[in-house]
Amino acid sequence: MIAIISAMHEELSAVLALMPDERKRVVAGREFWVGHLHGHEVVAVLSRIGKVAAAITATLAIERFGATRIVFTGVAGGLAPGVNVGDIVVADSFIQHDLDASPIFPRYELPLYGVSRLPTDAVLRAALHAAALKLAAESSAVLGTADQRLASASAPQVHLGLVVSGDRFVSSDAESRALRLALPDALAVEMEGAAIAQVCYDYEVPYAAVRTISDRADDLAHVDFAAFVRQIASRYSSALVSNLLA
Ligand code: SAH
Repeated sequence: MIAIISAMHEELSAVLALMPDERKRVVAGREFWVGHLHGHEVVAVLSRIGKVAAAITATLAIERFGATRIVFTGVAGGLAPGVNVGDIVVADSFIQHDLDASPIFPRYELPLYGVSRLPTDAVLRAALHAAALKLAAESSAVLGTADQRLASASAPQVHLGLVVSGDRFVSSDAESRALRLALPDALAVEMEGAAIAQVCYDYEVPYAAVRTISDRADDLAHVDFAAFVRQIASRYSSALVSNLLA
């Protein structure tokens, strides 16, 4: 059973449209859609926004729905230079950028885990990376010309690297600059990925995550984010999931 998780309705709606036979089960206020996608048994669900909500959802997907692999698809703010709106970031690892139990534990370290950075699953990540490269090559067909203007001037770039998560919508130049200084190799920032990585680490469930860049986590982030999720996010997610499972 593969769980497909997104934070928001706009990110998941087109994925649900690809499932011919989905049945809804509500647990803890979350709608889990169980069915098939390209012949795979799938449970699709909205995590809701933030680390705690996402951790609860991932735990339920494993415990109640028997998820043996988890794939997250959604949007994020670009942090590193060259990670632009419309680009795609595949996570090779996650850090909680707002976790700080210092001086008892080093900053960012997960208390009692002895690590701060959790890697994604190598096999699942490689498959998701291939799905992202395929989407990038076909992006004009997926998005259409008008939307592509909004997404980015050129074809989207696919990046692979560190994604950081925290319970904050990062939406100022000052805040994104501070994050870049503190975690120089972070490609993108969002609010759920590292929490799901921790759940999957505990359960030893393979996990991979892909994020389309909706904004640059800067002073204009709220404007760019709103337009992007309304017009584009769902189409990216469904194309990525479709490429992955095909
Ligand atoms: N009030 C907003 C809340 C969205 S929070 C709304 O209109 O619904 C932003 C969501 O997108 C989170 O799920 C997060 O994972 C992701 N995200 C996109 N850009 C982000 C940024 N700059 N900082 C943090 N999270 C971001």
